[in-house]
Amino acid sequence: MTAIIPSASMPGVQSPRLGSLPPLSLYIHIPWCMKKCPYCDFNSHEVRGGNVNMPEAEYVTALIRDLETALPQVWGRSVTSVFFGGGTPSLFSARSIDAILTAVRALLPLEHFAEVTLEANPGTFEVKKFADFRAAGINRLSIGIQSFNPRHLQSLGRIHDGSEAHRAIEIARENFDNVNLDLMYALPHQTMEEAQSDIETAAACGVTHISAYHLTLEPNTLFHRYPPPLPDNDLSAEMQIMIEQTLAQGGYLNYETSAFAQPGRESRHNMNYWLFGDYLGIGAGAHSKISFADRIVRQMRYKQPRDYLAKTSPDMTAFDSPIMEQHEVERNDRGFEFMMNALRLTGGFAPEMFMERTGLSIDSIQQQLDEAERRHLITRDYQRIAPTLTGRRFLNDLLQIFLPE
Ligand code: SF4
Repeated sequence: MTAIIPSASMPGVQSPRLGSLPPLSLYIHIPWCMKKCPYCDFNSHEVRGGNVNMPEAEYVTALIRDLETALPQVWGRSVTSVFFGGGTPSLFSARSIDAILTAVRALLPLEHFAEVTLEANPGTFEVKKFADFRAAGINRLSIGIQSFNPRHLQSLGRIHDGSEAHRAIEIARENFDNVNLDLMYALPHQTMEEAQSDIETAAACGVTHISAYHLTLEPNTLFHRYPPPLPDNDLSAEMQIMIEQTLAQGGYLNYETSAFAQPGRESRHNMNYWLFGDYLGIGAGAHSKISFADRIVRQMRYKQPRDYLAKTSPDMTAFDSPIMEQHEVERNDRGFEFMMNALRLTGGFAPEMFMERTGLSIDSIQQQLDEAERRHLITRDYQRIAPTLTGRRFLNDLLQIFLPE
């Protein structure tokens, strides 16, 4: 059902071949939320107050059909991690999550200690439901806290307040020993003291992982159309430094631009993204990156849930597919795409990883590496290439060096 992708190589020019395939993760998108947040550009649709209903049972069936039809692309490969993202996957019942995971285990070899994460939002937390998520096989919970400050939660359009955030963390920790909190900083009217209070509160919760994102005004969001007053660049930069210092004191390692983990608790799923691993994304609007010996392919599924459901319905014909777009990652883009991900990692990457994942020799980016080193944006030796502190602070400048001509 998946169209055969013509090689994007120039006539007579061989696509670089991969010596081995990278680890494979599975991403499962659940595209509904209680309410659309004004800063959100994710593929999420409001279930309350809007006209959209959540066809949960139909969607579970669609996900399983989607996975079945995608199997030939990842035949024989095992899955190292599973991530239920959204949207708000915790809106789904534990029974639905159980049905999806049962199908995943039946269709694909899931590694024995695979990390299985579910994103959850405060306001959807019930004690029993989360115990059932655990029983279904979820072993890591990622909670969208964003802030503990009621004024900021309100300005972000979140449906929870500070006490619901604390309650959600309490329930999460009772059922899971691996919990991430998503926080945001540089919020409308936020002061340094308020940002510090948020981050200290998060660190005091004793969770294994914290992600702290700078609020950005993404196109096609309400905040982009009606921008709220945000802290200026200097204050935002000071907040970032404060967050790094506070979390370091709390024993968290800043292993990626926005990610902080207790030792050994780095997100395995996200590490696979950042090291240019493969991921099969199922569900409305989900993205995939799949490697074959002679090509690397990116795909996106139909974004609108109704289109996605139609393309995965039992009446679908051999010409239907949930895949809306797909293209081959061309030779020149492979190096840039690898660097765009791997240079987010504080510890960088081993040069042989570049070759393993792109099929290109490290010499193919030698000039750019020299330039980045000359500008003190990276350090390198035979074992590792990593961004310097300046490189991390000016990541866009660093990445521009690797943009294909
Ligand atoms: S809860 Fe998350 S996914 Fe849903 S609208 Fe808000 S930011 Fe977007």
